[in-house]
Amino acid sequence: MTLLLGKTALIFGVANDHSIAWGIARAMHGHGAKIALSYAGEALERRVRPLADTIQCDFVEQCDVSSDEEIETLFIKATAELKSIDILVHSIAFANREDMLGRYIETRRDGFHLAMDVSVYSLTALARKALPLMKPGSSILTITYYAGQKAVPKYNVMGIAKAALEASVRYLAMDLGSDGIRVNAISAGPIRTLAAAGVPGFKKMYREFTKITPLKESITIDDVGAAAVWLASDMASKTTGEVLFVDSGYNILGLTVPEDLQ
Ligand code: NAD
Repeated sequence: MTLLLGKTALIFGVANDHSIAWGIARAMHGHGAKIALSYAGEALERRVRPLADTIQCDFVEQCDVSSDEEIETLFIKATAELKSIDILVHSIAFANREDMLGRYIETRRDGFHLAMDVSVYSLTALARKALPLMKPGSSILTITYYAGQKAVPKYNVMGIAKAALEASVRYLAMDLGSDGIRVNAISAGPIRTLAAAGVPGFKKMYREFTKITPLKESITIDDVGAAAVWLASDMASKTTGEVLFVDSGYNILGLTVPEDLQ
């Protein structure tokens, strides 16, 4: 279990022990990586620090990714303390709840900008700052959702954001390929997290999911963590610009009616 031995992973997006970023941090630590964590704001520190202690992580820094100043400060600290980064994980998204309640057509300019800034642009901003710290063989990962590829009720502006995020992955992969840096996304099936609780109708969708998917199994943060370990490891050295689905096969289906209704 040492696919990431000798590598350092800087992971953005742990809010609590349900966060996908936490599943990734735990899995990468289990494979020998040194972990550094960044969380959004002061209020989360009391949740994130105790988690960090369990994986011997002593770089735990705040960074609101909508602020260039906070990103700058974070990377000054990362440069001083970590020296280099082999893995950058972006597991961050935000949209106003009111923009997910009604129809997509109602989305206002400020809500659109907010979702795109926090959920999409931040990947590019973090990648640019991380670049001087990354050697050939390094890897960048983000987390997306199927609503970026197909229209999903209520996902609204976040679906548009995920589409743009997946396009960013392709453009960053093209840019950074000659630096020997790979950029990929994991498209996760529904997982009960803080962010998911903000999606109207999520609970119902979550319940139906296992009845529909080929594997009939729900997705855990450990499943995403395992896929992230592989993508960040040298085992995936020729994979870049990809979206890897960890969704029990949901995305391959053409008809999504639960079996008992067919
Ligand atoms: P989560 O709430 O645990 O994680 C979201 C993280 O984004 C939090 O840590 C939050 O603090 C952070 N964040 C929000 N605004 C920020 C800002 N301005 N600056 C810095 N950080 C900020 O929920 P999660 O489900 O683990 O979400 C992680 C990623 O996974 C998101 O991109 C989400 O869209 C994606 N995703 C989630 C699911 C799911 O079902 N939970 C499915 C597919 C994709």
